[in-house]
Amino acid sequence: MPGYELFGAEERKEVNDVLETGILMRYGFDGPRKGIWKAKELEQAINKYFGAKYTQLLSSGTAALSTAMAALGIGSGDEVIIPTFTFVASFEAVVGVGAIPVLVDIDESLTLDPKAVAKAITSKTKAIMPVHMCGSMAQLDELKALCDQHNLYLIEDACQAIGGMYKGKYLGTIGHVGTFSFDFVKIMTCGEGGAVMTNDATVAERCDQYGDHGHDHYGKDRGADLHPYLGYNYRISELHAAVGLAQIRKMDQFLELQKRNHQIIYNCLKDIEGISFRIIPDPAGDTGSFLSFFLPTEAAARNTANALAEAGIAGNPYWYDNNWHYIRKWEHLKNASFMNRIHEDQKQQIMHYTNQAFAASDAIISRCISSAINLGWTEEQATERGMKMAAIIKQHVNS
Ligand SMILES: *Cc1c(COP(=O)(O)O)cnc(C)c1O
Repeated sequence: MPGYELFGAEERKEVNDVLETGILMRYGFDGPRKGIWKAKELEQAINKYFGAKYTQLLSSGTAALSTAMAALGIGSGDEVIIPTFTFVASFEAVVGVGAIPVLVDIDESLTLDPKAVAKAITSKTKAIMPVHMCGSMAQLDELKALCDQHNLYLIEDACQAIGGMYKGKYLGTIGHVGTFSFDFVKIMTCGEGGAVMTNDATVAERCDQYGDHGHDHYGKDRGADLHPYLGYNYRISELHAAVGLAQIRKMDQFLELQKRNHQIIYNCLKDIEGISFRIIPDPAGDTGSFLSFFLPTEAAARNTANALAEAGIAGNPYWYDNNWHYIRKWEHLKNASFMNRIHEDQKQQIMHYTNQAFAASDAIISRCISSAINLGWTEEQATERGMKMAAIIKQHVNS
């Protein structure tokens, strides 16, 4: 899964370029930086690799989601449809811009169920935010059709699926906007960082301004910049961008190793009676960062996950009991436990949409285990791991 496994001389070289000049900031200082523009270079590299027209780097994936929504004009009272299975950043970003996260069931793709999404659309809905969880993709054709029909924005959260594709296009470049996270455990990393991708020049410009206190960046002198809109500081530093620049050059290698090891583990598990695998809308576009599978019952899944951990086979999260990725444990959201006072209407709406039964999602997530795939395993190590996993799953599949 993570690019940090192959951190090396290439990353150190890029960071050293920045350390040589000491210009750690991405904007300004045109003279002293001696032509070193790591953030700009990484933005161009992302456009080239993933086929986006515009990319704005930011300080995190969460900042990227917030910036994307602000740039689209999403705010107070607007509803954004997100899945019950995602990382907490999805709803953090939505509530952060003053909008309402509308939680909607997933299906066996582990992403938004288009039929459930259709039912959740109201006159206040502004966007649908599919999250390409655990390295694979949402059903984008169906969701895009809903967006077209109801005049909604499609915001792809591709933070966990960098390098994944859907019908020949990279995830994150298909919706009106798409986001990546380059935090430390993502497919490629900057240490911390994120990106918004879009083909819309106005949205791109707004992202560039929003992430830098509203600076319009028209002139050479930062102090003389105008500020057409309010913004914040969500800037990435040159040091972080430098790491990402070395990492993006290794993306082909990351994906090749990940897919190879994914296939090895899959081959070890595929014939086990009683288990089934996550539905992948476009199998060729899977990044291979996780192998997600279903046991017949909640008990069997929990027992299997526990047995894998006890056997020392780490990296097999059981999401149903996980605090960060599934709605069941998001009491802070369900209780609207904000540190500061938020608008009472927003609070009531958040509580309304999150305190519902999500039986369809429960029935799926309670039976699911996602097995993380490492880059660093040799073929022998992956095979050994897969065989050990298979033996343990067989022992517990009917437990
Ligand atoms: C990691 C992640 C984010 C947020 O990224 P950060 O860079 O950690 O802020 C958003 N969405 C998903 C699905 C993620 O996995």
